[in-house]
Amino acid sequence: VIEIGQPEHSVVTTCAYCGVGCSFKAEMRGEELVRMVPWKDGQANRGHSCVKGRFAYGYSTHKDRILNPMIREKISDPWREVTWEEAYAHVAAEFRRIQYQYGRDSVGGITSSRCTNEETYLVQKLVRAGFGNNNVDTCARVCHSPTGYGLGQAFGTSAGTQNFDSVEFTDVAVIIGANPTDGHPVFGSRLKKRLREGAKLIVIDPRRTDIVRSPHVEASYHLPLKPGTNVAILTSIAHVIVTEGLANEAFIRERCDWSEYEDWASFVAEPYHSPEATEAYTGVPADLVRGAARLFATGGNGAIYYGLGVTEHSQGSTTVMAIANLAMVTGNIGRPGVGVNPLRGQNNVQGSCDMGSFPHELPGYRHVSDDATRETFEKLWGVEISSEPGLRIPNMLDAAVDGTFKGIYIQGEDILQSDPDTKHVAAGLAAMECVVVHDLFLNETANYAHVFLPGSTFLEKDGTFTNAERRINRVRKVMTPKNGYADWEVTQKLAQAMGMNWNYRHPSEIMDEIAATTPSFALVSYDYLEKMGSVQWPCNEKHPEGSPIMHVDGFVRGKGKFIRTEYVATDERTGPRFPLLLTTGRILSQYNVGAQTRRTDNVVWHAEDRLEIHPHDAEQRGIRDGDWIRLASRAGETTLRSLITDRVAPGVVYTTFHHPTTQANVITTDFSDWATNCPEYKVTAVQVMPSNGP
Ligand code: SF4
Repeated sequence: VIEIGQPEHSVVTTCAYCGVGCSFKAEMRGEELVRMVPWKDGQANRGHSCVKGRFAYGYSTHKDRILNPMIREKISDPWREVTWEEAYAHVAAEFRRIQYQYGRDSVGGITSSRCTNEETYLVQKLVRAGFGNNNVDTCARVCHSPTGYGLGQAFGTSAGTQNFDSVEFTDVAVIIGANPTDGHPVFGSRLKKRLREGAKLIVIDPRRTDIVRSPHVEASYHLPLKPGTNVAILTSIAHVIVTEGLANEAFIRERCDWSEYEDWASFVAEPYHSPEATEAYTGVPADLVRGAARLFATGGNGAIYYGLGVTEHSQGSTTVMAIANLAMVTGNIGRPGVGVNPLRGQNNVQGSCDMGSFPHELPGYRHVSDDATRETFEKLWGVEISSEPGLRIPNMLDAAVDGTFKGIYIQGEDILQSDPDTKHVAAGLAAMECVVVHDLFLNETANYAHVFLPGSTFLEKDGTFTNAERRINRVRKVMTPKNGYADWEVTQKLAQAMGMNWNYRHPSEIMDEIAATTPSFALVSYDYLEKMGSVQWPCNEKHPEGSPIMHVDGFVRGKGKFIRTEYVATDERTGPRFPLLLTTGRILSQYNVGAQTRRTDNVVWHAEDRLEIHPHDAEQRGIRDGDWIRLASRAGETTLRSLITDRVAPGVVYTTFHHPTTQANVITTDFSDWATNCPEYKVTAVQVMPSNGP
């Protein structure tokens, strides 16, 4: 029997894991968190939760947390604990020295999709106003940056179109490159409920995920495509819709540019886009594609949900645009039950993008070359902002290797473990003169750091997170920061040390500044959030109660834009040496690189990553279930144990990436999305062979 103390008070806050953004009551006894109880009035979760939000909070008090700032001259030196004041002064002096020596653009920053909107806003402000350049990027670079680009092009705004409630009106759901049962469990449950009520399901995924067939739920169609062929499949579906006369022409004439539609329709109607023609390289039988296309076009309200299996490809942005095309050609935009719905991985990946974390965009997705937008911030901040886009994360690393980029401030992000081509990331970090890591733990990136600034958990701060449905949820401080300061306070102190006159007394004042400068947040304030519970942006005079569904009367860009989506095969090819294709994903109990969940009791549910391999491929290689195997690609190799299953098709292998020993990114290539540089994590040619273990 485990004796749990009785709570003395509770505070409502928001889960710090996935993009569903569940609300919880943190039940406290003094400074001790007794338990997390899903909040029945939570507008994103309505009293539901998963094992991560419910149980995986122990990392906040884990012994591995670093609570004092540390400095070292060289990365081979031991760490030396210093006072906060010494750390701030040291970072300020180093960044100024580097800029004096190598130029204004030789430093930059990375924001975190795990931190609050207010903290992210401050990091991009520090870079733009303090460093004087636009060298700021976010970890969304490696996940949903193609969503930002693709939806921005097609609809005019870089966000999902619906609220989660919308699923209750869906008749046909398409899931492509996502596994909501594991990745977004509370939304996955709502979707399954709708499916049990009779809605139809189409799954486009190389792997037979749980939702394809589970108790009382069976997909009408599972299209098990070869990894890397999303664009071909989606364009083939469009081909069937157009050539069989299933397009919603009334919607298109009213809401889209008709001449662009005609051009696109003639493109997709080309015979080489037919399911019969694409079958040879997608691996999906033509009759399945035709059946799925007819169901989606004629089955009533059609909604498309997608995840990183769409974006993390060399054609990630093209795939997002192909999804937008399908929604428009069937008229599935602008009402409940339909829409284009990116399932965001991290709790605040939507927010970090909203807050101007990209090197080409100021808060609210406004390009740095836009004079009026720059002027708004210049007047308020009292600085001149560069109209030139800055460096993306991969460009920063390239420039570091080339010797022109020398200093970086990384908040809440472990680029050495999460970014592709680990050797190149390490080389870039090693070439810098001042790497500042601001995090909870000495993560892998900290091996290359000169300064470590202790971070705070979501339990130790006030702020807001924005979930996958654009819902701005309050994060409320439930305990005193173990390290002494919330992350926004640390960034402010750094800015002050660099000579900037920042005097925010509370994150609510940062949100007031965001609202004053960003039209889609114009009415957002902590008082308003208290009154409304939460709001979905845009929240302004035109939409005072927020916007659960976007593009209701017209697209943000005016007319919806059909864009040709030509399939281009990835440069990553299989061959005799590397005959299998590796793709990756997550498991329910763990989160991303596992920095948090591995430091909780959730680790008992998933103590290691294993390689899923089809029985046929395993037998050919003499591999039995649970054997150690060597997984090798052109980039590198690693060792893990096998899991033999027909969830994956012959020729495809799959692993999760929650444990650092898996070293998944030693295997992945440096190919990336043509528009955004989002890495192609989801397609790697590999060989698998028996091994004696690590
Ligand atoms: Fe909700 Fe996601 Fe947190 Fe689970 S991980 S409790 S689904 S926000």
